[in-house]
Amino acid sequence: MNYAQSFQAIREKVEAGQRLSFDDGLFLYEPTTPLQEIGELANLVRERINGNAGYYNINTHLNPTNVCVYRCNFCAFRADLRDAKGYLMSDAQIMERGQEAVENGCTEMHIVGGLHHQMDYQWYVNVVRILHDGFPRLHLKAWTGVEINWFEFLTKRSVRDILTELKEAGVGSMPGGGAEIFHPEVRDKICEHKSDAGKWIEIHRTAHDLGLRTNCTMLYGHIEEAYHRIDHLIRLRELQDETGGFQTFIPLAFHPENTGLDYIKKPSSVMDLRTMAISRLMLDNIPHIKAYWIMLGLDVAQTALAYGADDLDGTVRHELIYHDAGATTPQALTVDKIRDVIAETGREPIERDTLYRRVHRDTGNLDRWEIGEELLIGR
Ligand code: SF4
Repeated sequence: MNYAQSFQAIREKVEAGQRLSFDDGLFLYEPTTPLQEIGELANLVRERINGNAGYYNINTHLNPTNVCVYRCNFCAFRADLRDAKGYLMSDAQIMERGQEAVENGCTEMHIVGGLHHQMDYQWYVNVVRILHDGFPRLHLKAWTGVEINWFEFLTKRSVRDILTELKEAGVGSMPGGGAEIFHPEVRDKICEHKSDAGKWIEIHRTAHDLGLRTNCTMLYGHIEEAYHRIDHLIRLRELQDETGGFQTFIPLAFHPENTGLDYIKKPSSVMDLRTMAISRLMLDNIPHIKAYWIMLGLDVAQTALAYGADDLDGTVRHELIYHDAGATTPQALTVDKIRDVIAETGREPIERDTLYRRVHRDTGNLDRWEIGEELLIGR
């Protein structure tokens, strides 16, 4: 088959709602496959699933510590205990963040951090419990699969047991971090110590079984090749076939500054948009694809709304992880700014909560809001 025939075969599959294969994914990553044609196909799928919606939320981040036993070589965030930049937040500081979030109208707090060797598992449970008790309306999206695996190591308890306790303490859903690249050819070089693909998937499978929705991610643009990325996407797709528990896939563009991989150039915007579009096409069963503006930059994230993405993440306060790695995006966006960024693309800005329900908000009073019942998926 020549190029035109191959692309036509893929186009026909997408138009008919058929699943793309591993080889189709690889073909789409060929530099000779025109970006705009892939984007057009991804847009078709995006509009089929999410119409003209451009979702965002009002959210904040909390990284209670950056001290970490691991040394993933793509990570600029971690610190050793005695590093000048190492920190551990007190309960009072954590509660201040909760208060600030509520006063600024946040519906969600995204909580991830380092694996602090001096803090026991109950310290991590306590972070969630005090926030949930103090601010019950704030949705806590907490702890990655890597952290859950660390808790397993600390407690010798099962994943199910740990997640059940965390859910009872106030975890409302789980973020998708720690997936990086599943393929051992890459994973063994960038984060050999932390949970492998099988463990990360088992943890998300268990979370889904317990009724916790989760997100999923892929860190691209470092030492991986196209076949590692497609392998990664297909592993996520297979779990989603089984459980249906993933809400959103977030392709994470690698930022090299201050990392052990600082000799690598960060991915181009063409690579960012190609990966966004291919993700939308391969992950036919995951409802949302997010263009995380903190990592992509606002311009690329905005453009990605025409390349398969339907969500820009949120206004985001207190992002540290990618700013430590050289992200030059602002620390936070105003609600008006994120709505303008979406509206400028011709999409309809819709505020959603973490579980993709519409947020009805009194724009004059950010802290007055109600969440609708209806799920904003496939509208
Ligand atoms: S990516 Fe996470 S686990 Fe790895 S070093 Fe950084 S903080 Fe630690």
